[in-house]
Amino acid sequence: MQAISLEGKTAIVTGASSGIGKATARALAEAGVRVAGGARRTERLETEIALPLDVMDPESCARFVAEAVERLGGAVDILFNNAGLALGRAPFTESSEEDEAAVFGTNVTGLVRITRLCLPHIRDGGHVVNMGSVAGRQAYEGGATYIAAKFAERGFTYALREDLLGRPIRITTVDAGMVDTEFSLVRFKGDEEKARAVYEGVQPMVAEDIADCVMFALTRPWHVNVDEIVVKATQQASGGRIHREA
Ligand code: NAP
Repeated sequence: MQAISLEGKTAIVTGASSGIGKATARALAEAGVRVAGGARRTERLETEIALPLDVMDPESCARFVAEAVERLGGAVDILFNNAGLALGRAPFTESSEEDEAAVFGTNVTGLVRITRLCLPHIRDGGHVVNMGSVAGRQAYEGGATYIAAKFAERGFTYALREDLLGRPIRITTVDAGMVDTEFSLVRFKGDEEKARAVYEGVQPMVAEDIADCVMFALTRPWHVNVDEIVVKATQQASGGRIHREA
């Protein structure tokens, strides 16, 4: 199977200021793709077109998509719906209204909204890649809202695959296990010690490993739709089962 070239294509990447989004935006640019990246921390964006974006805010999303599309020349080939986060690792009894709103609003409503706004601008031959998680495939303790949100992301991906059937747009979900990014720092609300402990005694994946997966899906020949990629650290069997070296 020969990889197709992405040279000259255009892409929108949400959450391009850190981790997986940043690494994927870089891989796309290296492949000759013009990338418009969005995030709240615009000062950290390294994309050719760098725009403010809060996926929780409908107006911010509308402005972001309109400006990104215009500056990319009027059409988009690739949408990487990556912006996301988890908050906390406590039992659900300790959940709060605020955390639930952020987790669902970012991973689910934000992703659905950006997809809706982008779809009219996605060119024939386009590709939507959604950033899922092993949390969206199997539950583990202390992650109820994030797990529910990533299950919803996967459900949306499957449903969109059905609705786009017959249109020349491909769709993929990349469901990753533990990746060493700022994800845990965000999850533990800035507690560096707790964030570091997540990766103790384990070799986690790095953001570039996930960028490789996204690039694999994007570069398959047109007749091949990679529906799902599930990828985990070798020492991680499932969301909650990790083999740690002493
Ligand atoms: P990260 O380093 O914390 O990056 C998260 C990105 O999402 C940042 O660029 C952040 O940008 C952006 N973001 C968060 N809230 C946003 C909002 N309201 N509006 C716009 N952008 C927002 O974490 P990461 O690991 O790369 O996470 C990327 C994706 O991978 C997420 O969907 C996550 O659920 C998924 N994932 C991560 C892992 C893992 O172990 N790391 C595993 C499976 C799946 P700003 O803060 O600048 O807005």
